Amino acid sequence: MLSKKYVSVAIFCIIVTFSYSLTSSENVEVDGNRLLPVKIAVVGGGIGGTSNAFYLRDLFGENASITLFEKDTIGGRLATVSIAGAEYEIGGTILHPRNLYMKKFVQDFGLKERSAEGTDRTMGIYDGEEFVFQSSQYSIITLLKLLWRYGLDVFRMRWTISNLLKKFERIYDFQDAGQSYTDIEGIMAAMGGEEFEGWLTKPISVVLRDMGMSERFVQEFAAIATRANYGQNPNMMGFAGMVSLAAAVPGLWCIDGGNKLVPEQLLQRSGATLMRSRVQSVERVAGENAERPTFRVTWNESVKGPKSDVFDIVMMASPIEDDLSGIDFIGFDHPVTTNFTGDYRHTVATLIEGRPRASTFGVSPEGELPGQIITNMEVPLNFRTLAKNFPVDYNPITFNASRQLYKVFSTGVLNDTQMEALFKSYSEATHRDWLAYPYYHERKTFPGFVLAEGLFYPNAIEWAASAMEMAVIGSRNSAILAYRYWSGESPEVKVGASKVKQEL
Ligand SMILES: Cc1cc2nc3c(=O)[nH]c(=O)nc-3n(C[C@H](O)[C@H](O)[C@H](O)COP(=O)(O)OP(=O)(O)OC[C@H]3O[C@@H](n4cnc5c(N)ncnc54)[C@H](O)[C@@H]3O)c2cc1C
Repeated sequence: MLSKKYVSVAIFCIIVTFSYSLTSSENVEVDGNRLLPVKIAVVGGGIGGTSNAFYLRDLFGENASITLFEKDTIGGRLATVSIAGAEYEIGGTILHPRNLYMKKFVQDFGLKERSAEGTDRTMGIYDGEEFVFQSSQYSIITLLKLLWRYGLDVFRMRWTISNLLKKFERIYDFQDAGQSYTDIEGIMAAMGGEEFEGWLTKPISVVLRDMGMSERFVQEFAAIATRANYGQNPNMMGFAGMVSLAAAVPGLWCIDGGNKLVPEQLLQRSGATLMRSRVQSVERVAGENAERPTFRVTWNESVKGPKSDVFDIVMMASPIEDDLSGIDFIGFDHPVTTNFTGDYRHTVATLIEGRPRASTFGVSPEGELPGQIITNMEVPLNFRTLAKNFPVDYNPITFNASRQLYKVFSTGVLNDTQMEALFKSYSEATHRDWLAYPYYHERKTFPGFVLAEGLFYPNAIEWAASAMEMAVIGSRNSAILAYRYWSGESPEVKVGASKVKQEL
């Protein structure tokens, strides 16, 4: 594990060898020389691409001309839909109280946080036949029930998560100090040493058992966390599994008016030119300045046909698997893919205005159901979670409880039989079928943040864990890498704290 001494030595080494400012656009000089003007293409307008453009502007200042390509809508997987006379989140919804970048954006952009918990905080674990656990509206009663069922595992888990968050937060200091990493293993090692790096290649069930957690905790608690957050099970990779367990805390929040307000603000503040088009290909071409390659980016303009332009740097802020981006990479001396095509999980989010059928869950027809029902295994009705949902401008005083909406997550689109089994009545329903997040099965290799010289991949971070905050961390890391590259420092230099440690 990385000791405090090594961390501070690592930061010191970076600061003394890295003689230009990485934190402010006021200083775009490297060792007294002005940076050459640079043309940058950012592909993808989700939270990843827009925060990438924002940090690129912060680092390069007016030296950079930035074009952001988005084939669909700004926000990407942060999206809302209109139903029952209000707007609801249909993609990424919940933020952790320790997601510090998202908190800072909200504060700096004059937006407002809102509790993600609504009025009904009760939760039930449903195994397809009955509720094996139900929480209470009162947190003290919930704690006693948890202790009764899972014993000291409850405290072990709290301690583990609090430790994880302390280590995770190191990344903010490292990035403020201009630290960057060329691969996922490096960024994990910098945050949490060998422990985090090890979690990349071990299932969460094994990690938890090694910590002494009971089989019941793994099969019930870890199962609902991994199913609710990633539609997976305790065989999923340890780090992403830990991220899903970390979401089981009070104080979860979201952004008043919709989470997509942050990417919209980031884009605007980055001063990037928005190109609402699908990028078709990225071709490496010999640059005017033979020292560095340039890239011909070709995009589709629906009426005028394909158009192209040449850029110095390209940032892939979207998944690059064929089934997700459909981009051809041409002229590279090695294949530019992750080889993980088809490894994104389908998740259908359905919003329904209606009343759930209590009898389906073994509760008397007039009985109360928990506000959030989470399944801990595949159930015949093919849903993972069914939870009360609240509009993006939810206000407990003005909220019309007679128009209660529910959000159901399932692997496929719910058919009529499933809908009727889950709801005794419903008036409106809408759904969105997402290729939502990677399938976190056991793998030994991960994509890097540098796909080729001048071609960066902020979205690589998603192979460690998919979340809004992770996307921002990956994007800031890649912006720093790009700045170093353009300043003449080789992007291939591995500067992760683990490497510094080895070199000492
Ligand atoms: C249903 C669901 C629930 C989730 N819940 C949470 C949650 O509660 N909390 C949380 O933190 N995270 C959650 N997530 C995950 C989170 O939303 C994602 O990790 C994050 O939004 C990813 O951002 P991104 O910018 O990397 O990718 P995206 O948002 O996917 O952005 C990539 C963008 O690139 C564009 N693009 C792709 N190919 C091209 C091309 N060829 N040319 C031009 N543009 C292109 C796409 O249209 C897209 O807009 C959830 C995700 C889903 C789907």
